[in-house]
Amino acid sequence: MINRILPVLLVFLSGLTASAAGTTPFWSKTGHRVIGEVAQMHLSRKAGKAISDLLEGETLAEVANYGDDIKSDRAFSEFSPWHYVNFPADKAYTEVTPGPQGDVVQGIEKCISILKDARTSRKDKVFYLKMLIHLVGDLHQPMHIGRAEDRGGNDIQLQWFGRGSNLHRVWDSNLIDDYGMSYSELARTLPRWPGDKIRQIQQGTLYEWVEEIQEVTNRVYASVEVGEKLGYRYRYDWWDTVEKQLLIGGLRLAAVLNDIYG
Ligand SMILES: [Zn+2]
Repeated sequence: MINRILPVLLVFLSGLTASAAGTTPFWSKTGHRVIGEVAQMHLSRKAGKAISDLLEGETLAEVANYGDDIKSDRAFSEFSPWHYVNFPADKAYTEVTPGPQGDVVQGIEKCISILKDARTSRKDKVFYLKMLIHLVGDLHQPMHIGRAEDRGGNDIQLQWFGRGSNLHRVWDSNLIDDYGMSYSELARTLPRWPGDKIRQIQQGTLYEWVEEIQEVTNRVYASVEVGEKLGYRYRYDWWDTVEKQLLIGGLRLAAVLNDIYG
């Protein structure tokens, strides 16, 4: 009897896990904090002061996971689609009709326009600032700009060090969390880039950034076969890309915030 029930139960449970992952995609908490920490180090003095005032002394790293924390509260369910965008790999974001429910690109644009509007209440300024810090992080996780047919890699089942995972989760959390560094250690050990390279990364429009990240996304999709067993070699091959995405995300978050508050 057990022999017959167990497979059914396992299928049912794995279905639950997959759908839960599909509705709650997020970079690892550590990843978001690293991006916050990098941005903090590149804020202008004026922006740093304005933000510290709004966040009542909390740092960007400390509030970086707010966007995911509120997901469990139904009062904020309208913001759930803001964490990602799924569209065909061979199309540019600008060629796709944005979904009416919003996505990470529209979410970032909306946060920026609300924060730039002098009529915005202090309460809303705090909320949309925390959302913006989170969303610029999500944007730079390559699988948050994924394909709809596999729900940003959630349906590409893989093994990660012998445990069941999927491509979205490998990039959201497995790679970073299994590395075992705290966010401050990780932020400290990221590559040091010269000023002109930093300025070059911080330039460009949001749509250009999406296009560039989509190239990484396509390489990540091509990096695995369904059911593949991933481990040390995959991390060795892709860790530089993880670090680069965290660094670039942090530098661009600083650029966006310096533009709003500078
Ligand atoms: Zn998120």
